Amino acid sequence: MGRELRAGDCVAIVGAGDIDTMARAWLATVESEDWDRHAERLSAVVSTQTRVKREESLARKTTIGLGGAARLYVEPANSADLQALVKTAKTRGVPVIMLGRGSNLVVPDDGVNALVISLRQPAWETFEARADGRVWVGAGLRLKNLCGLAAKVGLVGFEFLEGIPGNVGGALRMNAGAMGGWMFDVVEEVAVMTLDGEVRTLNKADMHVDYRHCAELHDAIALGALLKPASQSEAASIAKQIEAYKEKRQKTQPREPSAGCIFKNPTGDSAGRLIDASGLKGERVGDAEVSAVHANFIVNRGNATASDVIELVRRVRARVEAAQGVKLEPEVLLYGKHWKDVL
Ligand SMILES: Cc1cc2nc3c(=O)[nH]c(=O)nc-3n(C[C@H](O)[C@H](O)[C@H](O)COP(=O)(O)OP(=O)(O)OC[C@H]3O[C@@H](n4cnc5c(N)ncnc54)[C@H](O)[C@@H]3O)c2cc1C
Repeated sequence: MGRELRAGDCVAIVGAGDIDTMARAWLATVESEDWDRHAERLSAVVSTQTRVKREESLARKTTIGLGGAARLYVEPANSADLQALVKTAKTRGVPVIMLGRGSNLVVPDDGVNALVISLRQPAWETFEARADGRVWVGAGLRLKNLCGLAAKVGLVGFEFLEGIPGNVGGALRMNAGAMGGWMFDVVEEVAVMTLDGEVRTLNKADMHVDYRHCAELHDAIALGALLKPASQSEAASIAKQIEAYKEKRQKTQPREPSAGCIFKNPTGDSAGRLIDASGLKGERVGDAEVSAVHANFIVNRGNATASDVIELVRRVRARVEAAQGVKLEPEVLLYGKHWKDVL
């Protein structure tokens, strides 16, 4: 990242007015040039199908629709390019952070000082039903498509994924769950790439997975997973179950842009119930609002910023703690940062 400001470097701007402002502007320019150079190096090691972008807006790549840009953003076309990217980033000390469908994230307004990698190209969207009944899915496959394709070939057990707007990679990292099912209920193996570019297969039994968390994917990239259906059935009856889940969601969740449930449910209770009981439905900071439909959703009423959401999270937490004696912990991730640094 950016070079350190050295005394000698400052001479030209000292005495020219507001030193702090000038020094900051100088640093920003130096950092920007550094990111330009990183972009050039990364572009040089990948195929032409992989495009490296500078200052790519992430707001449009998240479901809540807010936040700043990625200093560097790449959609690798294949595994060799991904490997070249992470190896080069490691050598140059550039942090790497994965982006799924952006449905569990709040991107800070000043963006992300990292190389953001998204597996959106077709090579990552595989759905391969095997003869033994198991199915291989790529990390970039949307859960909606996984659910639909599995139903088509008569595989039972993936219906709970209907309506979770992420992809397989994000669902593995978050151990996404709904309607009594969890992502890792159906996982047998996960293929990962380490940040050294090494590809490994991890068995579920060796992985550390709990509520909205998979430890092995903190510092590794999920490439895909081998999934095991619960059973097989007629496509029509699976589709019926999917439809029932869809209806349930439509009745209980807001339609406005959001990042899903903002807080984790505390053991034995529901964050939504606690927020509602604290009289916070409709509470608003700027265009960020606690949904009147489901109190554990913060929705974007149009032009919300990440700062609005952070301030609302702070307010909700304080009020719930005062009224109910429970400290809620965010489930949604503050992309590239830690909540503890801003709350
Ligand atoms: C309307 C709505 C409803 C929702 N309902 C549910 C629900 O019922 N249950 C539930 O669990 N969640 C729900 N969510 C939250 C969200 O959809 C899930 O957490 C989902 O699994 C996130 O997937 P994603 O692809 O969007 O990941 P992102 O939000 O893009 O990323 C989440 C995390 O995964 C990491 N990541 C992404 N891809 C990879 C990869 N290939 N390798 C390693 N790490 C990776 C990211 O770096 C980040 O840390 C909902 C969200 C919305 C907006």
